[in-house]
Amino acid sequence: MRDIPSPRTGIIVAIDGPSGAGKSTVARLLAERLGYVYIDTGAMYRAVALSVKRASIAPEDEVALEELCRGLEISFERDSGGYRVLVNGEDVSEAIRTPEISQLTSRISTRKAVRDVLLHEQRRMGRSGNVVLEGRDIGSVVFPDADVKFFLSASAEERGKRRFLELREKGEDVTVESTIAEVAARDARDEQREIAPLRMAKDALLVDSTGVSIPDVVARMEIIVRAKETERAGTVPAGQGESR
Ligand code: C5P
Repeated sequence: MRDIPSPRTGIIVAIDGPSGAGKSTVARLLAERLGYVYIDTGAMYRAVALSVKRASIAPEDEVALEELCRGLEISFERDSGGYRVLVNGEDVSEAIRTPEISQLTSRISTRKAVRDVLLHEQRRMGRSGNVVLEGRDIGSVVFPDADVKFFLSASAEERGKRRFLELREKGEDVTVESTIAEVAARDARDEQREIAPLRMAKDALLVDSTGVSIPDVVARMEIIVRAKETERAGTVPAGQGESR
């Protein structure tokens, strides 16, 4: 696939942060309120991990990883309860959310072969704007020139507990302790990897969601994005957004 430059007419919102900070829920709701497309980049890494597991590929085998990634078509489909994640047409929304796949995802996401393919794909999906992209490296690597960058965080304890409740609701057999440990292990790997580690971009706004309700977090973010929309509407004539 070649990168074909296309004019950016809409706003790009980047939301990064550690596991369990509430990014997915916040990003999805924010995108709904703004009428933007929501792109869950973590789900894309998870979809690769599931495919790696099914194909019995070693997470260290860069050649096999690259070949696998190039053959995957990952897409999102909206449904009444949110959205579904599809890999080559198969709905993998539930299969990618198990603790086992979470761990494998954080291992394969350290690999250059995987990151290169997904980086290209995420830029293609988001470049025309009016999108909310959520992940670990959106504001720092995927769209360093995003119009609005948020770094969403919460205390380690709160993040572990949120993730525990999420997994329990899905019927997973987990304990609070094992979930807090799982989240901490993933964060450490995400922060320490060589390529595109989890970092707060210098120009990102830190949003601490500890003890703050999801609707309040979303409302705060919406105000900031709306202000950016107003600013751009005042400076850029309609239909003449900057070229990327
Ligand atoms: O956001 P989520 O918890 O679904 O992400 C799963 C994993 O995917 C993360 O722990 C991280 O290793 C990887 N990831 C990444 N870069 C992104 C999004 C997710 O490395 N932009």
